Amino acid sequence: MSTHDLDTAPAQTKYTPPPLLDHPHADVILHTPDNVDFRVFKLFLSLASPVFRDMFSLPQPDPTTVTSSLSDADPGEHAAGRTGSMPIIDMTEDHLTLERMLRFYYPGSNPDMTTCDLEGARKLLDAAIKYEMDELRRFVVESITSPRFLEKDPIGVFAIGCHHKIEQVVLAYAKYTLRRHFEDLLSFKPSMTGITVEDYSRLLQYHWRCGVAASGLTSAFEWIGYERQYRFLTCPDCAAGEKGTDTPTWENPPRKWWVEYMKSAGGLLKSRPHGGFATQFSVYNKHLNTGLECKTCRRKAVKDMRDFVQGFDRKIEELTSMVALNITFQGREDHIFFVTT
Ligand SMILES: [Zn+2]
Repeated sequence: MSTHDLDTAPAQTKYTPPPLLDHPHADVILHTPDNVDFRVFKLFLSLASPVFRDMFSLPQPDPTTVTSSLSDADPGEHAAGRTGSMPIIDMTEDHLTLERMLRFYYPGSNPDMTTCDLEGARKLLDAAIKYEMDELRRFVVESITSPRFLEKDPIGVFAIGCHHKIEQVVLAYAKYTLRRHFEDLLSFKPSMTGITVEDYSRLLQYHWRCGVAASGLTSAFEWIGYERQYRFLTCPDCAAGEKGTDTPTWENPPRKWWVEYMKSAGGLLKSRPHGGFATQFSVYNKHLNTGLECKTCRRKAVKDMRDFVQGFDRKIEELTSMVALNITFQGREDHIFFVTT
């Protein structure tokens, strides 16, 4: 049965481990709380985890009795139904988590994270940390900071990052939130469990400051550079718009149709400070059409706008990358993180 099958299988379907993890020559059994036995090799476990290595280096009990150092379960209760000759370890991880964990370390058999939901990834990360499996930990962190997880349950990813104090995860989420409306961050979701009020407040502050920084570009125009001679800055023929707050030396005020676009972009950026939305064609197209009504702007307006929005995008990225995200994490002194591209 594949991992994908497990995610979608009816509850009553009896799970059996894949042959790789149910090996007839295995020397230890890992028993899960949902009553599945994985017959595996101590050697693989020892190489993967110092926790297992240390456990197996201790004097081993009578093989007909149960080893239960990794679980809070009562080993005696478990032993009652056992008559085999292999040591049995009661695990706290469910069978799906354990299969993924074991697959990572078994040759030629990686866990398929494309069919793993965030809760499954969280359990796997918990196991990786518990058993000090650093490679598996890195693997899960890389997975949950990928667009697939961030787009499906971004706040859940943030909660995991905060809970385990993993900077890489928190930073990935913070940057991702810039694609979401500020208002979207205000509603409670079950996956927010584990996030402190303080950490969440700082995340909101981060988003807000990015919005202020990015939208500021739409009212102060000096960063554009008058010397670029964009037609929407230099045209003498169509209606003038408001000058930027920082352009006293410019010969002309920018043209009204372009200023109106910048106002629209400013509103979008305040709530969603990501250049990919404010600079897209569907946002500036309406204003560009107005510009095309001017016989002077018409000659260069399309080319100028295409060039301008690319630089605008880069500037938004540059400014938001300089905004600090102050996450304290519980039990730690303040750390200041800078989100970079
Ligand atoms: Zn014009």
